[in-house]
Amino acid sequence: MSDYYKVLGVAKNASQEEIKKAYRKNALKYHPDRNQGNSEAERKFKEISEAYDVLSDEKKRAVYDQYGAEALRGGMGGAAGGHPGGFSSMEEALRTFMNAFGSDGGGGGIFDSIFGMEQEEAGGRPGASKRVNLSLSFEEAMKGIEKDVVLTNYTQCEDCRGSGAATPSSIKKCPHCQGTGQFHQTRGFFSMSTTCAQCGGRGQIITNHCPQCRGAGRVKKKQQVTIKIPAGVDSGMRLRMAGYGDAGEGGAPSGDLYVFITVASHPVFQREGDDLILELPISFTEAALGCKRELPTVLGETCSIAIPQGTQSAKVLRVRGKGAPNVHGHGRGDMLVKIVVETPVDLSSEQQEILRAFAASERDKNSPRKRSFLDRFKTFFTS
Ligand SMILES: [Zn+2]
Ligand SMILES: [Zn+2]
Repeated sequence: MSDYYKVLGVAKNASQEEIKKAYRKNALKYHPDRNQGNSEAERKFKEISEAYDVLSDEKKRAVYDQYGAEALRGGMGGAAGGHPGGFSSMEEALRTFMNAFGSDGGGGGIFDSIFGMEQEEAGGRPGASKRVNLSLSFEEAMKGIEKDVVLTNYTQCEDCRGSGAATPSSIKKCPHCQGTGQFHQTRGFFSMSTTCAQCGGRGQIITNHCPQCRGAGRVKKKQQVTIKIPAGVDSGMRLRMAGYGDAGEGGAPSGDLYVFITVASHPVFQREGDDLILELPISFTEAALGCKRELPTVLGETCSIAIPQGTQSAKVLRVRGKGAPNVHGHGRGDMLVKIVVETPVDLSSEQQEILRAFAASERDKNSPRKRSFLDRFKTFFTS
């Protein structure tokens, strides 16, 4: 069992501030956006997020300190909101990350404010990452769709191909630093290096700037971008399109585009993960005698379900594989049909007659729950 304090690299008596700082440092290092396809980084990210989730909450931390992580998995820790089995999913870990650093403040969003700070390197500055919000109908989210958006981005200047120079011959080696971009100074034991102010660390200067971009190497431009949205996306999900942010300065890498998804609710289906819940009202005679029903699925198929004799209200029937498509392509969830038995209203006198006759024929075994309820209160009802 890993030690949450060791995982974050903090002391047992660390303050909340120290814990958050340590989490932030580790989270930036192992964040999946920066370690695509690296399963070791993914494991680390989940591990530190789980540690942070516990240690950042004083109630959970107290339970953990006294009884260990096991106590937080179901059982007594459950009351404090423990996780049933650690962080099994990346979604949970990402949620912790988002909760810790603010879901985003609009504008450039979390990635500019967090990742941007680390990108102050010598040379051309990388392009900023951008955010777009996309609202989808429920059907669009279920089927997947392509959406065109218009972005005003910095893009590479076509005249100078991003170099910022009017002609290739107007790019010269920086005479100040001899093209190294750095100055090294030795003072006693210390060796210090500073960035050349003349060329900004690039080692090159431009004697004649490109007139189109005035030497920046990039220009602002409206661009149409087609965003491919996979089937099964849900509200709160975020797609990353690498390189679709602003172009970098002086040939530095472009930023990314983050697409934040919002999905409208559906009048009939309610989503829970990949499962879709549908409330199905049936009459009390259908519930008592059993019936068959044809139902539409969210993708427009029809499926038939058999409602057995004696079905009670709130009973849930599971139709396998007819739920929402999994966004990662792992098949489909289930459709959960929740039965609601409707009491008949607006009866004609003839119908009332029939029901009175039926009521007279009713036996205890017809309503076992009612019988057992009454049995529990026997003394109350007989005294
Ligand atoms: Zn220089
Ligand atoms: Zn240019």
